[in-house]
Amino acid sequence: MGKASKDKRVFISLLSLHFLFSGSLADFSASLYAVYVLQDIYYRKAKEEGWRARSAFKLLQIDEEFNIFEGVKRVVDLCAAPGSWSQVLSRKLYVPAKLSSASRDADLPLIVAIDLQPMAPIEGVIQVQGDITNARTAEVVIRHFDGCKADLVVCDGAPDVTGLHDMDEFVQSQLILAALTIVTHVLRVGGKFIAKIFRGKDTSLLYCQLKLFFSQVTFAKPKSSRNSSIEAFAVCENYSPPQGFNERDLYHLLEKVGTPSGVDNLDCRSGWLEGPNKVYIPFLACGDLNGYDSDRSYPLPSSSEGGLYKSLDPVQPPIAPPYKTALELKKASSHGIIDIEKLSLNSDL
Ligand code: SAM
Repeated sequence: MGKASKDKRVFISLLSLHFLFSGSLADFSASLYAVYVLQDIYYRKAKEEGWRARSAFKLLQIDEEFNIFEGVKRVVDLCAAPGSWSQVLSRKLYVPAKLSSASRDADLPLIVAIDLQPMAPIEGVIQVQGDITNARTAEVVIRHFDGCKADLVVCDGAPDVTGLHDMDEFVQSQLILAALTIVTHVLRVGGKFIAKIFRGKDTSLLYCQLKLFFSQVTFAKPKSSRNSSIEAFAVCENYSPPQGFNERDLYHLLEKVGTPSGVDNLDCRSGWLEGPNKVYIPFLACGDLNGYDSDRSYPLPSSSEGGLYKSLDPVQPPIAPPYKTALELKKASSHGIIDIEKLSLNSDL
């Protein structure tokens, strides 16, 4: 056994003892998480390079493979908080254009980011706080584009994962369909759409639905995305909606995918999803294959380079995390200000 994993086991045993005596499951799982992420190379690298989340590497690795930023001037970042993808967009598109003396303000890239949660500001990024499944959010985004269309829409949305794969996959697919609704309103013909998906039994159906709108769809797994996670990314290129497509018919059209009647301009009838004519989805691993492996545990620099490793603080802690209320309630309860057992019966909270 390597020294790192031995250290980890000793540490976890000590934590278990601590847990036995302190009895706090939340503290225990938080400490376990700390042990895990301390050795997660992408988590550490994100802090070193100033990214708010390790997800930044996923978008960078998708770009390495698909060159998604080429010629991009207008972007929508759906489900953007805490903002590492928006940071990538800002650093790759906005900052270089701003530094180039040739750029007038009117020529600067337009980046609009949306999330349920508020985010700390990012240079060149317009923030909209809202729910992407709500039609009004789409309207706000469209208004920002002032009649112009986006070249790229990215969506890293994820609902709170329950651990029940079928349920998580279903909720995730609903989020993608909401994103696709926004895409049909704001993306220019020829534009690109990148969306997080959860691989599962309906992956082929989702592929067929996306193929209705994009001539090229590839499911990609960046090296920074753990193999143990069912997450992957749909990279959809060359937006080309069916002829005569009306945005209001989106759901009707999607429902027809995989049914015996299928959809007129695409042979995605039921035979496409199963049986001898089953569709094979292009699936690609991306990112430098000799680069860091997100499922491996790397020793902290202190043990490999002789120095003392100093853990860095998070680049930008969430400004209004959903767990804040829970912590406040827990604190108030421990001070006897409120009775948390009774609170759970109160539907207003
Ligand atoms: N791409 C982000 C980054 O790099 O920092 C991380 C995104 S995080 C994995 C998923 C985000 O999806 C969360 O911030 C969550 O609030 C957001 N989200 C989930 N459902 C949403 C919805 N219906 N509308 C808007 N945002 C949503």
